[in-house]
Amino acid sequence: MRIDRGRLQRTWEAMSRIGATPGGGITRLACTDEDRQARDLFSTWCREAGYDVRVDDVGNIYGWRAGQEANAAPVVIGSHLDSVPNGGNFDGVLGVLAGLEVARTLDDHNARTGRPLVVTCFSNEEGIRFEPAMGCSGALVGRYTVDQLHDARDAAGARFGDELARIGYLGRSEDRLRSAHAYFELHIEQGPILERADVSVGVVTGVRGYQWAEVQFRGRQCHAGTTPMDERRDALVAASRLVVEIRDLARARPGAFATVGNLQVETLTHAAHAHAHPELSELALWKGKSMRNVVPGTVRLTLDMRHDDADELTALVDAAGDIVRRIGREESVESTFMLTSGLEPISFDPVLTTSVEDAARICGIRSVRLASGPGQDAMYLRELAPAVMIFVRTRDGRGHFETETASWDDCEAATNVLLRAVRTALA
Ligand SMILES: [Zn+2]
Repeated sequence: MRIDRGRLQRTWEAMSRIGATPGGGITRLACTDEDRQARDLFSTWCREAGYDVRVDDVGNIYGWRAGQEANAAPVVIGSHLDSVPNGGNFDGVLGVLAGLEVARTLDDHNARTGRPLVVTCFSNEEGIRFEPAMGCSGALVGRYTVDQLHDARDAAGARFGDELARIGYLGRSEDRLRSAHAYFELHIEQGPILERADVSVGVVTGVRGYQWAEVQFRGRQCHAGTTPMDERRDALVAASRLVVEIRDLARARPGAFATVGNLQVETLTHAAHAHAHPELSELALWKGKSMRNVVPGTVRLTLDMRHDDADELTALVDAAGDIVRRIGREESVESTFMLTSGLEPISFDPVLTTSVEDAARICGIRSVRLASGPGQDAMYLRELAPAVMIFVRTRDGRGHFETETASWDDCEAATNVLLRAVRTALA
């Protein structure tokens, strides 16, 4: 049994017209009119195929393909149809449409299955317009309450719950997915590993853990034209050293990632000071920003640290903290290192992982194991059922970007692997 590549591609093309951007990507933020159109199209396709479409109270859509045992826990395939602004049109979409293609292929062969098969579109995976990301899959496993999610507001003050109702996707709590026999998610890799390994398909072993930290260096703000170089306590010099050392730290540890993504140089101006020096009053406008002729007194920066292994992640975070303190001492600035949030590394189900590898082998498709960098809905679904993800090779390794793309050969290969693994789970 093989999927219909032409049909998968046509389905994807129809979907990618919704919210299309001139740069070749899509902008389809959660609960916008574009999101509604995408949801409507998916629901229509499910209904046309004879699947029972259910929508739950956070807007997750489920297309139920009936099994012979109505009460058996279903095999679930899911992903998302929303995007980031100017995002790629494979991220999420491909997973939902590959799920639909698997169900349609079973229909082509009049294949009856014991268990139901459910193709799912999770609400607001990206968490751009309404935080948090992946909240609506998280709700299925009690990570968030429905009220919490409904009350999330966008920048303009609109409530998630109201916007769901406005687009017609505020469903019923009875229709929430309560149990599953297995969960599969196919997703574009959005990274370079598969391309580098020259394989179409990746078997995702888990989600990389991360820790975020905020670092502050506080030295002494002073005049750039009068303060001797050997008397300075320059917070930006300390921060600059950290940017480089943190990169070197991660490079020296296999599997580690560490990034300074945000850095703010702050220059404080006091109102009293501005008053005494009218010519400086304009400086008040600069409060919080940096100035060219001032030695920076305070710098705040963020650290993003990741690893597949929990112990290695802890060691990475400890080492980063040591570096911050050492640089603080060496540059005579005060330092603080504060962990703000994080996620332990997550492992997907080993049996399903092997089953996907077997499926690839049977299909004659080479695959490699890898961890996912970004979090995915599968991260929460694994608390409901054994879960696994299949990655499709990305061209040029970029994600969350308009030119994010995959070849149709690879999409076809991965969807065939998904079909094979899902059939095993349904049997
Ligand atoms: Zn995604």
